[in-house]
Amino acid sequence: MRASRYLIATQKETPADAEIISHQLMLRAGMIRKLAAGLYTWLPMGLRTLRKVERIVREEMDKSGAQEVLMPAVQPAELWQESGRWTQYGGELLRMNDRHGREFCFGPTHEEVITDLIRNEVKSYKELPANFYQIQTKFRDERRPRFGVMRAREFIMKDAYSFHLDAESLNETYQVMHRTYCSIFDRLGLDYRPVQADSGAIGGSASHEFHVLASSGEDDIVFSTESDYAANIEKAEAVAPAGERPSPAEQMKEVATPGQRTIDAIAAFLDIDATRTVKTLLVKAEEDENGKSGLVALILRGDHTLNEIKAENLPGVAEPLTMATDEEIKRVIGCEPGSIGPVNLPVPCIVDRSAAHLADFVCGANRDDYHLTGVNWDRDAALGRVEDLRNVVEGDPSPDGKGTLEIRRGIEVGHIFKLGNKYSKAMNATVLDENGKSVVMEMGCYGVGVSRIVAASIEQNHDDKGIIWPDAIAPFEVAIVTLNAHKSPTVAEAGEKLYEQLRQAGFDVLIDDRNERPGVKFADMELIGIPHRFVVSDRGLAAGTLEYKGRRDEDKQDIPVAEALPFLI
Ligand code: ATP
Ligand code: MG
Ligand code: MG
Ligand code: MG
Repeated sequence: MRASRYLIATQKETPADAEIISHQLMLRAGMIRKLAAGLYTWLPMGLRTLRKVERIVREEMDKSGAQEVLMPAVQPAELWQESGRWTQYGGELLRMNDRHGREFCFGPTHEEVITDLIRNEVKSYKELPANFYQIQTKFRDERRPRFGVMRAREFIMKDAYSFHLDAESLNETYQVMHRTYCSIFDRLGLDYRPVQADSGAIGGSASHEFHVLASSGEDDIVFSTESDYAANIEKAEAVAPAGERPSPAEQMKEVATPGQRTIDAIAAFLDIDATRTVKTLLVKAEEDENGKSGLVALILRGDHTLNEIKAENLPGVAEPLTMATDEEIKRVIGCEPGSIGPVNLPVPCIVDRSAAHLADFVCGANRDDYHLTGVNWDRDAALGRVEDLRNVVEGDPSPDGKGTLEIRRGIEVGHIFKLGNKYSKAMNATVLDENGKSVVMEMGCYGVGVSRIVAASIEQNHDDKGIIWPDAIAPFEVAIVTLNAHKSPTVAEAGEKLYEQLRQAGFDVLIDDRNERPGVKFADMELIGIPHRFVVSDRGLAAGTLEYKGRRDEDKQDIPVAEALPFLI
């Protein structure tokens, strides 16, 4: 590519609203431009890297035996109603109507669509196991889109969905995907860790996340100092004896856990498994003007639900929809509204930061017969208030008994789940087994944040001059900077010759043939992060050499013109 004919949209100034380095550098290097909150255009320079990431992901997925499909981005509401997520998914789901008034959403994920496809296409156990993947634009109406493409609203994900006759087969594919993810992130040159994770809203039994270690990460990852134990802090089990350090409730005074009676009542009402939710219940107690302790908020994990009283005390609660009577409230929480104390209960609470967005809960004020139902709860806003609550702290014993825990920040770039039959059961996706019996399939799902990886890589690979791409995903592998080429035919010719030679050898080459000062060209090539640079100058050519500098190198070196290609290989 010729820089003179290419959109080099570099900027000197650091954009004011870009908080983290990858966001700043992606803007400054002319990789992306913002259209609106969480919506970005990929400029030619950025798109080259994005496509290279995609290619590596695709190659490794193909190698694993997965089959590529491409599903629609827009999905009919009926499928989401079938799985139950139309009401559960909350504010991240972008809903819309077509001209006939039919309801749709822009897919934040594709479990429903693939399950619908496979229940129609796959009829026999002989066709299993099967794993289907796509690389597709998703939309999630993130409450706080930020950090550029790191947490965008529209972003590119590789997602895969596997189907199985039994749990054993799911287990095998899950392991294959685990290994595939390691190959992907190895090839991308990332410093990453697979960690145990919570399956959260999506449901299922086991899950691992893949985190790129970086201080700008939004997740806390805990590691053992002496073993392979690693987990997202949301998942890490506290093993420290109580009393050694402040309990989570003490860490944030206004938080307490509910009594067993409340938990049981809620569990019974909502038909959920109390043992599964107890640990992740959070109740916020607050005194009203009469000094009466009231149950203010209660968060259950997963797809369950959330009940709230005194909605005005919580941020992010949308317009109330309907009113519920005291009787109804009582039925949900098992206590009189407004007099629900005491709530200072013995069990320390553990906050599940992946607790799902929950609709359809009850809330109200500490006033008789004034309670609201169907209020949309914004989980990010709510969880933002309890961000500092942790169930483990640095120095705690590792749950596997080996060593103590360290905590680092991580960027989630991949996530694999054993879904079990959550979707296949709800949507009746069955196959006939060996005996002709109809069996509900087991499912797994596997996501990679393709566009997020570009930003995550920059978080790990940059200096004060700009980005430092690993060769594998650099927009261009080699930059040829010609000095004074418009005045020196010798330089122009030698530059062109090298350009052709390297291109023919398969390199992605950018020749900076712009009529710019050398300093400008050098600064741009460094900002853009091209890993290898040759400078062609009259002075060098007179001595039969080119100047070479690797993007990470301290020093330049002179290389005989004829050695340039062998040097790179
Ligand atoms: P996060 O915890 O960061 O919100 P998630 O757990 O909601 O991510 P998954 O549903 O597991 O995301 O989706 C699979 C992958 O898609 C994630 O591991 C991440 O790399 C990527 N991803 C999710 N949300 C975004 C986003 N808003 N912008 C860019 N990439 C995203
Ligand atoms: Mg998310
Ligand atoms: Mg997550
Ligand atoms: Mg995830």
